[in-house]
Amino acid sequence: MSKLWLKSCPRCRGDLYEEPAVGRHHFASYYITCLQCGHVLTDAQESLLTGRQSRAAPQPAHRVA
Ligand SMILES: [Zn+2]
Repeated sequence: MSKLWLKSCPRCRGDLYEEPAVGRHHFASYYITCLQCGHVLTDAQESLLTGRQSRAAPQPAHRVA
């Protein structure tokens, strides 16, 4: 199954779709790419789009109380 985000490309405002990435990135099961310009979203851009946690999330900053 794949998802589609219309007019969501950060580069050209094109349509993004989620594509399986089996065998391409061992750390990811999918990647999101643009139909119009072929731009592949970074982890950060994916997180913004999907609301999912970034796979490579940095350590949370410790609050100084
Ligand atoms: Zn694009």
